[in-house]
Amino acid sequence: MKQDPIVKFDSVVKRFGNFVAVERADFEIAKGEFLAIMGSSGCGKTTTLRMLAGLEDPTEGDIYLDGQKVNGRPTWERDTPMVWQSLALFPFLTVQENVEFSLKMRGVGRRVRRERARKWLDKMQITEFADRNINQLSGGQRQRVALARSLVTEPKILLLDEPLSALDAHLKVRMQAVLSNLQKDLGITFVYVTHSLSEAFSMADRVVIMSRGRIEQIGAPEEIYHKPHNRFVAEFLGSANIFEGVLRDKPNGRWRTEVAGGQTLLDGASVSGRTAGQRISFIVGAENMDLHATGNEAEGLSATVVGEEFVGASAILFLETETGQELKVQKSHAELRAFDTHPGARLRVSWKPESCHVLPGE
Ligand code: ATP
Repeated sequence: MKQDPIVKFDSVVKRFGNFVAVERADFEIAKGEFLAIMGSSGCGKTTTLRMLAGLEDPTEGDIYLDGQKVNGRPTWERDTPMVWQSLALFPFLTVQENVEFSLKMRGVGRRVRRERARKWLDKMQITEFADRNINQLSGGQRQRVALARSLVTEPKILLLDEPLSALDAHLKVRMQAVLSNLQKDLGITFVYVTHSLSEAFSMADRVVIMSRGRIEQIGAPEEIYHKPHNRFVAEFLGSANIFEGVLRDKPNGRWRTEVAGGQTLLDGASVSGRTAGQRISFIVGAENMDLHATGNEAEGLSATVVGEEFVGASAILFLETETGQELKVQKSHAELRAFDTHPGARLRVSWKPESCHVLPGE
């Protein structure tokens, strides 16, 4: 991590009774970083965020904010405002009054409050709605009010819990751009909880992937996408073929590996610390798979076409080997037309050793 951390989780555990919601979380967030926390429902994302906000206390371990231990400190002493999916705006106050609210709570005088609120309304391009009621705004405008209300105290860190999930797809993309630009312009640290892979991967500097209270991987989107640590992360991303094989021998610096009734080669460097006879898991991106007509028995695995999914300019062909291994091959429509791809058709599928990524955590 280049900069000083603004957040540090040191062996943080959260239990509700006997249930472990967060299992020993250790991570840091750099100042000015955009960190997304994602994972399936119930994996502990919101609990992690709520502990940072002071809405839950860790059962074990310590949380540091800007170098200060904050365990037990109430939320109003932390300056970690949160934007919720529901936005939680006050319907009986105007836009201006909503934005002024937390300054009022802090005893800031009327004139300064008005000026500061106007500045944030301006930044969020909603000044023209200052005197409207909340229920007279569109979904996107409400999002902007919620952001202005959270940012008006000029915090160092902003916590966001699925803030865009109630918006339609088009507005979601527009608000993603607003959030990304805002975060970069202000240099504020954003901690952003989401279910959405595309939100996390398009906005965040780093992504935390959680499963059942455990952090499975933390890294830049590119790194997680191309080098998932284990099968859970690879399955969660959903775009790669996941193989389990047995290492046989290493004739020319590459491991011959038995997989799904056939053989493949794995780069020696990517298979460190393992010996012949051991099991190994690796992935190959669907876009890195090659197709061949049957008859070319030297190449790859023989498989039967199961079906096809249309994905814009390309398609994903789903196949299955005799051993039950599922395969995904992504190609342009033109490339696929060179083959018989009707369900039940037989093809051969291969890949290059350099397209394989060994899952180190398996
Ligand atoms: P979602 O995406 O559905 O919001 P999440 O990953 O944010 O899920 P959390 O809200 O952090 O999940 O909850 C993690 C687990 O802890 C869940 O199984 C939840 O039921 C449980 N949990 C959360 N809060 C409490 C509580 N106050 N008492 C008991 N169990 C709780």
